[in-house]
Amino acid sequence: MSAEKMQFQAETKRLLDLVVNSIYTNKEIFLRELISNASDALDKLRIESLTNKDLADDTAPEIFVIPDADTKTITVSDNGIGMTRDEVINNIGTIAKSGTKDFLDKIREASNAAAQELIGQFGVGFYSAFIVAEKVELLTRKAGTAQGVKWTSDGAGEYEIEDCDKDSRGTTIILHLKPEFCGDDEYNFTDIYEIERLIKKYSDFVRYPVKMSFEIKGKEEDEPTIEIRTVNSMKPLWTRNKSEITREEYDDFFKHQLHEWEAPLEIFHVKAEGTVEYTALLCIPKHAAPNLYYSDYEAGLQLYSRHVFIMDKCKDFLPEWLRFVKGLVDSPDLPLNISREILQKSTEVKVIGKALEKNILKQLGKMLKDDRDKYEEFWREFGKSIKLGVYNSMFDTKARDSLKDLLMFQTSKDGKLSTLAEYVERMPESQKQIYCAAGKDSAAIERLPQMELLRDRGLEVLYLTDPVDEFTIDVLHEYAEKHFQSITREGFELDDAESQKVKAEVEEIAKTHEDLLKDVKEAIGDDVKEVRLTSRLKSGAVCLATGEGGPSLSMEKTFAAMNNPLFKATQILELNPNHAVFAKLESLHALGKDAPEFKDLCTTLYALALLIEGVMPENPADLANKVTDLLTK
Ligand code: ADP
Ligand code: MG
Repeated sequence: MSAEKMQFQAETKRLLDLVVNSIYTNKEIFLRELISNASDALDKLRIESLTNKDLADDTAPEIFVIPDADTKTITVSDNGIGMTRDEVINNIGTIAKSGTKDFLDKIREASNAAAQELIGQFGVGFYSAFIVAEKVELLTRKAGTAQGVKWTSDGAGEYEIEDCDKDSRGTTIILHLKPEFCGDDEYNFTDIYEIERLIKKYSDFVRYPVKMSFEIKGKEEDEPTIEIRTVNSMKPLWTRNKSEITREEYDDFFKHQLHEWEAPLEIFHVKAEGTVEYTALLCIPKHAAPNLYYSDYEAGLQLYSRHVFIMDKCKDFLPEWLRFVKGLVDSPDLPLNISREILQKSTEVKVIGKALEKNILKQLGKMLKDDRDKYEEFWREFGKSIKLGVYNSMFDTKARDSLKDLLMFQTSKDGKLSTLAEYVERMPESQKQIYCAAGKDSAAIERLPQMELLRDRGLEVLYLTDPVDEFTIDVLHEYAEKHFQSITREGFELDDAESQKVKAEVEEIAKTHEDLLKDVKEAIGDDVKEVRLTSRLKSGAVCLATGEGGPSLSMEKTFAAMNNPLFKATQILELNPNHAVFAKLESLHALGKDAPEFKDLCTTLYALALLIEGVMPENPADLANKVTDLLTK
């Protein structure tokens, strides 16, 4: 095939513009990106040759970097898998990665500072070559094929592709440097020692040798000799002694090796030599991925055996709810050519996973104790995961016990986060239960009429503002032998003498109003299971209680949102006998249970009770009419 001129795909062109027009402030990163691609290509070759014996030969894998001041170029070559013509077009001329288009749209809308942050999140990969080069040539030959391909571009929208001769497999990339990177200014990427420094800085733990050739000056008239040296230490960070690794090295590792865009919140470096030998280097990122709780989030750890990369995103180590943990596991007890299916059944993987889980929980407990601020930072990002962990431990008391002390809730005390232990510690002697209330946020809960009484008695309430909270509490059932009691549930009552007295009075009133309550229930219909008098309200006229055992109103909403409309809360309408509206109800009842005035008041009270709970009544227009009628009467 002859040389062909082709256009970059539109998105590619935009990304190129972005990269080149220096949103990327760090000009040095191009080398790291190219070396990382070369290393990936060597990994791919190795994995391919496990099954395709034709590819296996005895050439040692290597990456070569050659800066040249005379031609003002820097060349990066590898003897990895290489690319076919189609692969070059698809991988280099196109942005195939999903999400890239969205990413570019976001960048376009963002301010400059925000754009910087965004692009930091996104590896620019191969295109970073155009940060420093005015022209890039790529020569490549796919392993197992005979034909080479040459790709050339100045990064301005077009590229050229043609067949070429190449005597060995792999890829060679020649960057023709822009003048400002060749000399006197800040950068000189034709300087061999400068490049050596960059390789050491960014690519030290690349698993393949990155070689350079150095000219060693001879004495007097002797010719200089050439020495080829491997510049990177190749020693994977996780194999080194913990005490010798700086926090900065760890941070760099997670950023570059695991494509994190910021330093992690917490790092776990674990070495174990028990029944199964392994090293794990894990982290909790600072921020949760936006899709962390969605099915398109790809969780999992990288897997290595004897420092050799086996696979990415291995999901079998950690349970679902720990999906936010990132990192790698390296174990000599796992064979090199292990498949995902074998891995799932592997006892080694199970043993390692269990140990890691335990370790993570232990360290989180320690963080809570020793560094409260950091733990709260963790909680705000990943608290939901811990709650899901509790929810998943429905049939596993041991797992639940290891998690319950990590839980945090906002409470009515001061709106700050509190652990359950802290809440229990503050409970007055007379309080027997842990009070909680669900709502969409703390303000919504504070407005609940049921809160008034607790506020009055100085009792603290846990705020359940996340839809998973109520489910979590349900599974927990109790903490330190204190049961959780929702202030909006049937059966809620306060334990103090004063409250018990009020309760007895209300029961007396109820006895003499059995007919009224029965008729209110009849007027409302089957939406409520029962109508009762209550002692849980102070100034409020009505509230809804939900039946014990079944879902609450907010759980019902959650189920409905998950297309599970069958899980319905049992509703009990509660009336405050000390409120003026109760007297009104009595007087209208005297007109007869079928009197429209009586029925209207009953259904209006029910609709209002729903509204208080944040539930839209079935016929809001009807409610509006009745209320305006009442207001203008
Ligand atoms: P990423 O490495 O994240 O996939 P890059 O932009 O760095 O993105 O590279 C794009 C693609 O180009 C790679 O996925 C790979 O398929 C191909 N590629 C880049 N460099 C090489 C190389 N040296 N050898 C083989 N393929 C390469
Ligand atoms: Mg890359």
